[in-house]
Amino acid sequence: MNPISQSQRELVERARLFVKKELLPLEAGLETERGLSLGVSNTIVEKARVAGLFAGNIGKQFGGQGFSTVENILLQEQLGATKEILARRAGGNVYECLASGSGEQIERYLLPSVRGERFCGLAVSEPEAGSDAAAIRTRVEKTTNGWRLSGTKHFTSDAEFCDFFIVAAVTEPGLGARGISLFLVDRDLPGFELGKTFHMMGFRGTSHRELLFHDIELPPGALLGELNNGFRMLGDTLGKARLAKVGARAVGKCQRLLHLMKQHATNRRQFGKTIGEFGPVRQMIADSAIEIAAARALLMQTAVNIDAAAGATDRAIRADISAVKVFTTETLGRVADRALQIFGGSGCHEDSLVESFYRDARLYRIIDGTSEIHRDIVAQNVYKSDLPCPVAFQ
Ligand SMILES: Cc1cc2nc3c(=O)[nH]c(=O)nc-3n(C[C@H](O)[C@H](O)[C@H](O)COP(=O)(O)OP(=O)(O)OC[C@H]3O[C@@H](n4cnc5c(N)ncnc54)[C@H](O)[C@@H]3O)c2cc1C
Repeated sequence: MNPISQSQRELVERARLFVKKELLPLEAGLETERGLSLGVSNTIVEKARVAGLFAGNIGKQFGGQGFSTVENILLQEQLGATKEILARRAGGNVYECLASGSGEQIERYLLPSVRGERFCGLAVSEPEAGSDAAAIRTRVEKTTNGWRLSGTKHFTSDAEFCDFFIVAAVTEPGLGARGISLFLVDRDLPGFELGKTFHMMGFRGTSHRELLFHDIELPPGALLGELNNGFRMLGDTLGKARLAKVGARAVGKCQRLLHLMKQHATNRRQFGKTIGEFGPVRQMIADSAIEIAAARALLMQTAVNIDAAAGATDRAIRADISAVKVFTTETLGRVADRALQIFGGSGCHEDSLVESFYRDARLYRIIDGTSEIHRDIVAQNVYKSDLPCPVAFQ
């Protein structure tokens, strides 16, 4: 694995200071107030843009930061140290597949998103289609004037904040994944309705909504990319997003938790000693440090491999991303659990950051594909490829 360069070190330091100065002070109110005002959200976006941290994954030709995968990982690791909604606002939620849109789509959707003027949500999951995303029922039919969209999505993150959505819909029934396309859907179109709000156990401040599409008439230019190629586009764009926004942020959260554990173990005294002197507490801290180092190494190596492949994600790399997703999020689960144990009662109440990180951590194993689904992708790759095995087993 390549060591990180001087400019990458500077990026890490810039991001670290940004999180400390601009984001950490906003954490306390998020759990109780269940949200950020639009004004505060916009201020974070603007400050992150000025600091050169916003839309890191998008090329410079579109106004983004043009970061490599490694650089984006380093940035997201820092952002991951704080609450999800703050990381989202500072990093932006600009999906790479927007760059493969038409000239008009780039003008209308990508460029304003990179400038922080418009916000994008991703609507794939439906009440009857979660892990089995190819089973979605939301339907788009061709009309004389464009397209007609009908159906229901749910759990769509940040829906209240978003101006438009990338919506996955069936365009060729009966073909499963090969009959799905992506459409750009403006929130203010007639027939668009924000439905039920789901109050999730974690990620407070981020809304999770049902989206109802009542025969929405879409213009001809609403199709993103090629017809019936939506599933493949989703795979590419979500793979890299998963590595950065889930894998790297999970590692960032682990590091913050380890820092909190160390602080508490050093300050809290019982039986005339600091609790950090007791073997079982030291073991929980040591196990966490070891697992975080392993998770970080896997994450970084995968990012290096993607950059070496010039950003392409073939089957093996997609399986590596799945491995990172499983390992980083399950590490986060174990670290959050140990942090709560070390904090004892002080970690169990609502004023404790550890309590909210513990709830957030549990969601990481479900969002963006469950551990079971990602393990299956890893297993498929093991069966299909000639993985290098130790000589003794060949
Ligand atoms: C906080 C949050 C935010 C989200 N944001 C979005 C969003 O912005 N946009 C969006 O489109 N979706 C979003 N989702 C939905 C998310 O992608 C799904 O919840 C996830 O893919 C799992 O689908 P499901 O909840 O329907 O679970 P199910 O698919 O019903 O799975 C239930 C259980 O069955 C297991 N299972 C299912 N199939 C298999 C199998 N083949 N082998 C082994 N086990 C299996 C799963 O692993 C899981 O344990 C969000 C979810 C959450 C919780």
